Amino acid sequence: MSNNRNHKGGNGSSENECCDFCGAKRSDVDLLLTSGDHRLNICSNCIAEGYKMLVHSGIIEDSVRKTSKTSYNDEAPRTMDELLRPVQIKEFLDRYVIGQDRAKRYISVAVYNHYKRLLCNGSGDGDVEIDKSNILLIGPTGTGKTLIAKTIARLLKVPFTIVDATVLTEAGYVGEDVESILSRLLQVADYNLEAAERGIVFIDEIDKIARKGDNPSITRDVSGEGVQQALLKMLEGTVVNVPPKGGRKHPDQDFIRVNTKNILFICGGAFDGIEKKIAQRLNTRALGYGRVQADTVDRNNLMQYVMPQDVRSFGLIPELVGRLPVLTYMESLSKQALRSILTEPKNAIVRQYRRLFEMDGVELQFEDEVLDYIVDKALEFKLGARGLRSICETIMTDTMFDVPSSGERRFVVTLEYARQKMEKTNFAAWRQVI
Ligand code: ADP
Repeated sequence: MSNNRNHKGGNGSSENECCDFCGAKRSDVDLLLTSGDHRLNICSNCIAEGYKMLVHSGIIEDSVRKTSKTSYNDEAPRTMDELLRPVQIKEFLDRYVIGQDRAKRYISVAVYNHYKRLLCNGSGDGDVEIDKSNILLIGPTGTGKTLIAKTIARLLKVPFTIVDATVLTEAGYVGEDVESILSRLLQVADYNLEAAERGIVFIDEIDKIARKGDNPSITRDVSGEGVQQALLKMLEGTVVNVPPKGGRKHPDQDFIRVNTKNILFICGGAFDGIEKKIAQRLNTRALGYGRVQADTVDRNNLMQYVMPQDVRSFGLIPELVGRLPVLTYMESLSKQALRSILTEPKNAIVRQYRRLFEMDGVELQFEDEVLDYIVDKALEFKLGARGLRSICETIMTDTMFDVPSSGERRFVVTLEYARQKMEKTNFAAWRQVI
């Protein structure tokens, strides 16, 4: 093929030539290519269209998107030596997440295995194909589920997005298609397809799409079972046509083909009431051969016995449970854990406030009793760690308003001051907001 210096069939000047596909004149297009035998022309617009079709049908990869630059790790680890060991992953998590030892260990192993899987399946040798290790995190709100997922993404320097399962509906209904999950991942990856395809997706409130009632599919269950069905393939690994800007799929829209094979999905949910299902299962076993074991069950912390079948009884379909093989739980945060959360993590709330005041040239100090008081309030309102921040904000807002222009160089938050600010607040309304 040559460009339009050649005359087609020798008749007329190059100015009269036109694209044999769309009929556009040479003068109206950027480039006109001519076939080797000078019988056919094709213009740059038609070549671009053809390119898009090849990308969409998966015949070639979109090199334009592939080359976009982001700050993510450019490549997945290529050798075992490059992989972070579970102990190292957990050490990193320890810096940000207080307590939750068991969940951190499970997740460290799951992430390690995820990367071993990429190495193993990518190497092309060996007859064993390792399955995905998607994770299901069960536990009360504000115990650090999202924080763990976020911290893992920070460690691995991969794109990370959080989606709320409650906004997802089956295609064709009001709400978002499940593909929108991947649109968001692409957006945070700045459309770096390669990076997105190694990203982490946190699907929050997965328990809210549990099947309602025990009978599968008597009626259409638009926001429950239907969504679970739609998620199956994506979690397992498939190529999904993703509308780049999210929203609904539209026939005329351009799609990006995203392969979810190496995307790690972490699902989280409170699963309120699952303890009952666990208790039922344990009691049933107690009637049979498991009686002795059942006697030793710690009834105050049933969550530690959670099994995939409990999640099924709760209303997740078996296929979905099967695609979330790593199941672990988050403990309710103790008084001591909440106290540590205030001061210990690298970006602990108290450190954040100190930093904010420092920027105004003000030294900020919290009396110890204030920290205990904040923890007591968080426990009282059953808000987990989520409440700590809101309580601090309630206490600190007035002083954050005044101090920058007051000329003070030091501010001490006393118990009396904290109490006074909290008492001024309308808690009933405040609890509803969180
Ligand atoms: P969940 O997803 O379980 O509802 P989050 O992870 O969103 O809870 O937690 C809300 C906030 O509470 C976090 O941003 C973090 O500041 C704090 N937090 C919760 N749990 C922990 C924890 N175990 N260690 C440190 N901070 C925590």
